[in-house]
Amino acid sequence: MRTARNTATREESDTVSESFDTGASEGTTVTGTRTARTSRRGFGGYNNLNKTTFQLEGSSAVLVFLDPENFSYAKRHWIKYMSVDEATGKPVQVTKVEYCLEDEDDCPLCEIGDRAKPTAYFNVVDVSAPSKVLVWEATPDPTSAIQKEYNKLVGKGKHLSDDNMYWVISKEKGKNGFFSYSVDRLSEDDMASEWEGLSPITATQREALRHRAYDDTYILNQMKTRAELQEFVDSLG
Ligand SMILES: [Zn+2]
Repeated sequence: MRTARNTATREESDTVSESFDTGASEGTTVTGTRTARTSRRGFGGYNNLNKTTFQLEGSSAVLVFLDPENFSYAKRHWIKYMSVDEATGKPVQVTKVEYCLEDEDDCPLCEIGDRAKPTAYFNVVDVSAPSKVLVWEATPDPTSAIQKEYNKLVGKGKHLSDDNMYWVISKEKGKNGFFSYSVDRLSEDDMASEWEGLSPITATQREALRHRAYDDTYILNQMKTRAELQEFVDSLG
């Protein structure tokens, strides 16, 4: 199973960083709509074809977890700096997301005083786009909401990834400007009545999706070397 898992390429890792650059301060960008089949007009959907991360763009989406727990975790830095917009020539604030190297090496981003934040990585399927495995790069707020549900189930011998389980992921902007996430269990019947256009994902489909799930190489392929991070720090001036 492990060898059959997806390997994220360097190109994909660039895309992931880009998605954070556009201002997703909580870093849990997810795609999801309430209708199964939306318009194919425009670049948005086209760009989503290459997307590997789950990004909650609306207020809620229905997900399936493919594993009982996160498949990995890591600490990452969100570095904000000023750059020049190539199109307009005007200064713009950019956020770059980089993995912290403190566990293997001295981390140049820790050295400049930035505090890395933990991220938990989950293999998920957005039920509105059921043929694709996505990675939810969950920051602490959604991770604690997921863990609460995990804890409720584990005592009963159940798991987030059980075949009949669906999860509604919602976010709400708090007074502090940050999003707060909710993770709520959804039965197949409630999904059919409340979520127009979503079809159940069968046990067989889930098993097939699990063979395409991501593992630690997802992170390793995006991780920069110490020299690369040092070069980035030097470029900040
Ligand atoms: Zn660091």
